Amino acid sequence: MKNIWKLAAAVLAACVLAGVPAFFAVREHRALGAMSARADSLQREAGSAQAEAEGLTKELSDARNRLDSQGAELEAARGQLDSAASERDALAAQLEEAQAKIEELGRTPRFDPDGPAYQQLYPDFYAPQPLDASQAPAKVIYLTFDDGPSVQTGKVLEILERENIKATFFIVGRSGAASPDTLRAMVKAGHTVGMHSWSHEYKTIYASVEAFLEDMYKVFTLIRDETGVTPTCFRFPGGSTNSYDYGIYQDIVAEMLRRGFVPCDWNMSAQDATKTPLPPEQIVANVLSAGNVVRGVVLMHDSKPRATTVEALPNLIAALRQRGYTFAPLTPKVKPVMFNYKNFEQMP
Ligand code: ZN
Repeated sequence: MKNIWKLAAAVLAACVLAGVPAFFAVREHRALGAMSARADSLQREAGSAQAEAEGLTKELSDARNRLDSQGAELEAARGQLDSAASERDALAAQLEEAQAKIEELGRTPRFDPDGPAYQQLYPDFYAPQPLDASQAPAKVIYLTFDDGPSVQTGKVLEILERENIKATFFIVGRSGAASPDTLRAMVKAGHTVGMHSWSHEYKTIYASVEAFLEDMYKVFTLIRDETGVTPTCFRFPGGSTNSYDYGIYQDIVAEMLRRGFVPCDWNMSAQDATKTPLPPEQIVANVLSAGNVVRGVVLMHDSKPRATTVEALPNLIAALRQRGYTFAPLTPKVKPVMFNYKNFEQMP
């Protein structure tokens, strides 16, 4: 029996001796397996991260390429735009040239080869359109300012703007040449700029038809070149008939009409060209003394001494409005008011 216990003890000891290392060996083996699995999973993760990084790099590079190609497209579009702009400029220049040619051709054959030689002077001294001064609307007042521009002109322009009135300025060329900005301001504001001679010296201007043309041509080119608008309406210094042009006024009128220009006298006068300036109320009364004309062309002056004319202007406008008149600028279409031209009604 004792031997049985011994045997049993020996077997147990053998089992323990053999089993403990085996137990540890199994445990170690398991740990190794887990580590290896973990290593595998980490490797897989690393692989997919790398793939993702590669994908992102490729996307970045694609985006960069797209940007580059869009930049190139933009550059090309810019180039096209530039070339379109220069093409447009070239076409505009061609158009301008063609228009000038048309204008020139329109003018060339106008003079009468058997007529007075002065018809051939200044071949570009023609109104842009043939004469057609046929409109004669009732209850309209045409305010006209002669002999400027001067220091008074800016004030006149301000009043007209405030009153929302378009008027007409018959300018003296040598004054206009001194302030071309004023001429441009008149045009920009919608007023008519007409010719009233270059020098305003009666003796010089009315010495002959040729002298008249020479003087008027100078103010014509000044207005045309400074404002870009070819003047059509003109006013004779002293009116169409005066003691200086008595012998030749018909020839001058005929020659200016032939060239398409519209002479503009007046039928209401401020009578403000006095040595001593008139009080403003007298200026208003002078204009209104013409009575209720059907159409009124009002003569006033915006030369340097005419401060009281400027002062009178707002009251004059109010008085004329009260009589039911509206205001307009003279244009080539407006039938002119003229002195001593009973047959002017038959003008084409
Ligand atoms: Zn004058």
